[in-house]
Formats: sequence, structure tokens, C-alpha cells
Amino acid sequence: MSDRSVLEERLKALEGKGYPAYKSIKGVWQFPGFSLEILYVQGDPYATPSRVRVLLPADFVRLPEFVLKERSRRLGVASFLARAFAAEARGGSRAGGSGKSGHILMESPGQQVMPQTAVQIASHGGVEARLQVGLPARGRRIMGKAAAQLLCTTLPELVETTLRAAAHPEDTLLLHAQVNEDGHALRSTLPERGLVAFVADGALLPRRSGVEDTPMEESHVVLFRSPDSLRVTIPVPHAGEVTGMGIPLGITLIVGGGYHGKSTLLRALECGVYNHRPDDGREQVVTLPDAMKVRAEDGRSVAGVDISSFIAPLPDGTDTRTFSTANASGSTSQAAAIVEALEAGASTLLMDEDTCATNFLIRDRRMQALVPREREPITPFLDRVEELRDDGGISSILVLGGSGDYLDVADTVIAMNRYLPEEITARAREVASAHPTGRLREVPAPMAEPGIRIPDPDSVDPSRGRRAASVKVRDTETILFGQVELELHALEQLLSRAQARGVSEALLLLRTQMDGHTPLPQLLDGVMGQLEERGLDILGRGTDGDLAGFRRLELAGALNRLRGLRVH
Ligand code: ADP
Ligand code: MG
Repeated sequence: MSDRSVLEERLKALEGKGYPAYKSIKGVWQFPGFSLEILYVQGDPYATPSRVRVLLPADFVRLPEFVLKERSRRLGVASFLARAFAAEARGGSRAGGSGKSGHILMESPGQQVMPQTAVQIASHGGVEARLQVGLPARGRRIMGKAAAQLLCTTLPELVETTLRAAAHPEDTLLLHAQVNEDGHALRSTLPERGLVAFVADGALLPRRSGVEDTPMEESHVVLFRSPDSLRVTIPVPHAGEVTGMGIPLGITLIVGGGYHGKSTLLRALECGVYNHRPDDGREQVVTLPDAMKVRAEDGRSVAGVDISSFIAPLPDGTDTRTFSTANASGSTSQAAAIVEALEAGASTLLMDEDTCATNFLIRDRRMQALVPREREPITPFLDRVEELRDDGGISSILVLGGSGDYLDVADTVIAMNRYLPEEITARAREVASAHPTGRLREVPAPMAEPGIRIPDPDSVDPSRGRRAASVKVRDTETILFGQVELELHALEQLLSRAQARGVSEALLLLRTQMDGHTPLPQLLDGVMGQLEERGLDILGRGTDGDLAGFRRLELAGALNRLRGLRVH
């Protein structure tokens, strides 16, 4: 170990040398209070910046004892520190120079709080922060003085002003810990109360825009208020008694006119599988952790999925018990997504008619009369949703504005009216009996038993060129897995690039465990179990700062969409 002044002198001495000379600073440097490790040095100023981590001992950070006691508290505060560091680093000045010279970057957690590797807090109070640094150069000549300034002055200042407890009001740290612990507590109480989701009174659901996940400006917002009939009170450790709308297990419809806030409510429920930061507006909106949003996704590939419960043999004779295609239709893609979600352990299905295939959702009386059953391979979801509930214990929450046929099967009907929910289950029952649809239930046979799918390891090829395994994440929605482009946009609960990074690395791990005998659910158990036990650093290089946690549902969802996948 060397100290900071040695590094400073070394960097200054590199002034004007060729860029590769930076390699000599790799290693651990002891700074006053903490250590800096240069993990990887970039090849030139335009390449991906250098990877660095700082290791801060507990007695340097001095987080309140309260924060350290519970994992959920540490996660809340770690996300807060990462956001603080990332924001401060972004605002910092640049040294000038070429390419990414002088940049200090940290992967900032979004509005959600989940395990991530940018900043991690150990139970003993030590903090590890991982970042990227663009080592400065003019052309390919090292700017040694600027580098010394960047690593030996700017970086320690950033550490000082963002990662030490003293940099923040203690109340703020406690709030981030408490809100996250409360979020956990709210979610974990759902099963014993027979609820699939809870939306607190006062929650702020709409977002600033379709591309911004921050809350809509208060002045325009109607805050959530539960209908009295669905209001429940849940005590949590810090916020005390929280009141709000409990959505019971079973079949729930969210109805109402266009633009009244239906999709916004469903979106909040989708995101309620994660915790949210204080002041997000959704920090007391929680959904069962294995609730899965499902949608139509025409064009996707499907590998050996038994969709026969929803789609009978196709006109061309295709057997839908092991359905594979490189180009699914709206209805077959949605059927596959449901069967895959159930296979991966989903307990609840969330659907919005805006993104569903209409012929998958309904087939009304007139269509039944016009197109005979023998000529329609689709058994609409309407005719399976009760079976799913009764035999599989699967709840469904459906946003519907256009089809009243579902009134016959709903347990709970919530109407959104000017962004506020009303419970209209009784009225919906009256309407259903006053206006019978006359439609016939069309179920050729009970739902198929879930088939066992065993991925063929040879069909999952992560190699690219001379590299045996290569994954790249373009953005939240696209992974390059080996040579194959993997589209994830239909996994709407995958919310960040860091999560996509996590999934992409986990796919590699999953691939190493495929032996041609183990069914997919067990493979998922294996990988998710290892992650649970040993954390995200079993993925990638073990020191990556851009990974976030994800659910087995999204990992399965990614594998299921991988073109070329074969299963037996
Ligand atoms: P629907 O699905 O019923 O057609 P949306 O949920 O898409 O309606 O909402 C329509 C618009 O209203 C969106 O622009 C959304 O941001 C906004 N909005 C939704 N909920 C609220 C609310 N509680 N307060 C203010 N605006 C809202
Ligand atoms: Mg909508």
C-alpha cells in the first residue's frame, strides 16, 4: 500500500507520457481515512472510463447505529448515498482534455430502492463505493497534473461531501432508512391480510412524463384516496398506522373512462414490487413481490411453451403444447408470457388492455355466433381467469375500459373517476345481471398442467468472436447476449439499465448451470439462491459498480425471449 502523496507524485510524473503509462497506477492507495483502489485502467481517453472503488471504514463514515441494524435500512441509505455521490459528481468541473477526460461517474439508483453495487453498506458500517473515472489526456498524452488533481483532490472531496454521514443531516439518513424499512414491512404484511396490493392514502402516483420516473409536480396532482369500502389500516415500524386501499386476492378490474388514471394506478402497482425512495410518492404503494405485468409482444420468439390452455392447435397444424416461434402474434405472445410467468413463480398477473391483444382478452357473444368455436383456436383469458384463481391461487388485476364481459367474473371492481378510485363491485354485479351478455363459456378442457421445460445449453451461446462469453447492455431494453440481440422492452418491471446489467450477467451464470437435465425453475432457484446468499458480486467481475438486483421473473423473462433458445 502506498499513500496519497506517492500517487500524486507518480501522476504528475506521468505528464506528457503516452496513455498506456497510466497502467502503472493500478492497485490500492491509502488516503487519509479511506483507501482508493484502481481496479482497471482504460486503454485510451475515449474508451470506457477506468474502474475505481473507494473503501471507507466504519469509523470514517460514522453512519448512525440505527441505520446499520437492519438490511432494509442499509439498502435505503446506500441508495441515498449513491444518488448523492452521482449527482455531485455530475455537477463537478471537468479537467478538459479529450474524450471522457476528467469525468467521474457513478451509476445512480433511480426512484426505486433495491440492492445495487454502486454503494454498499456492510452490517459493520463500512462503505464501498464503485465509480468510473476518465483519466485525463490531451490526445493520447497523459495530463498528469489534471489526473493528480482529479484523483487526489476532487475525488476525496466528493467522498467527504457525499459518502460520510456528517455530510448529511442525520434526519435525512434516518428517513431513508425508515421509509425503506416501512416499505418492506407494508409488503410483507400483504399475504396475511389476503391482499395483492396496497396503495396508501396520500400517495402520488403519476409521473412527470413518460420518460421521467420522478413524481408529477404537486400542483397538478390529485393525491390518492382509498374508497371507504376498501380502506385498511396497516401499522408499520416508523410511519405508524398507514391507511389506504387494499386490493384483495382474486380478480380485480380497474375500470373507468379514458384519461381517468387507470393505467397510472396499474403502473404504480407494477412498480410496487420494489420499494421507493422518500418523496417519490409511491413509497407506500406495495404489491406482492411476485406480481407480474404481462402484455402482448408480437414478433418475440417463444421456445417450447405449452400455450394449449389458451390456444388450440393452429390452422397450419402447429401443436401448441410445445409452441415455438421466432415471430409470435399478439395473442400467442401474451399466452406464452402468462405461462412463462406462472412457470417462474408469479402469483399475480397484471394486465392493461392498452397493451393486450383484444382477441386474447375477449370473444363476445356476437363473435361466438359469427365465427364458430371450431374455427377459433383462442380460448380467451376471460374463460380462464377464474380457473387460474380457483385452481392455481393466481390473482389478476385487469385495467379495462372497453369490455364489460369481465363483470361476470370480477371479485372486486374499482372505478377510476378523475384520478380517484371508487369501489363499484355491487353496481357492477347489478349491471351484469341486468345486461346478460349471453356469451357461452368456451373451455374445451381444463387448463394444461404446467409442462417441464429443460433448456438446452447448446442453444444458449454467449460467445462472440474470440470471447467465450460476452454480454453487453445497450440500454434498459436491449442486451447483446453473445451474437444475439435480446429485446426486453416487454418486461415492463425491469426498470433500469443496472437491472438489465444484472440480468445479463445472471444469464451467463444461468448458462453455466444448464446441464441438459435440470428444468428451468430449478435453474432459476439455483441462481437466485446464490444471489440471495452471496450478493450481486457473484456476477460479472465481482467488482462491478453498475449492477442492480432483479427478480427471478425478469431473469426467466429474459431467457425466454432469447432467440435460438431450445428446450426439451
Ligand atoms: P387511463 O389509463 O385511464 O386512460 P392514464 O392513467 O393514462 O389514464 O392517465 C391519463 C393522464 O392523467 C396521464 O397523463 C397521467 O399522467 C395523468 N394522471 C394520472 N393520474 C393522475 C393524478 N392522480 N393526478 C393528476 N394527473 C394524473
Ligand atoms: Mg390507459
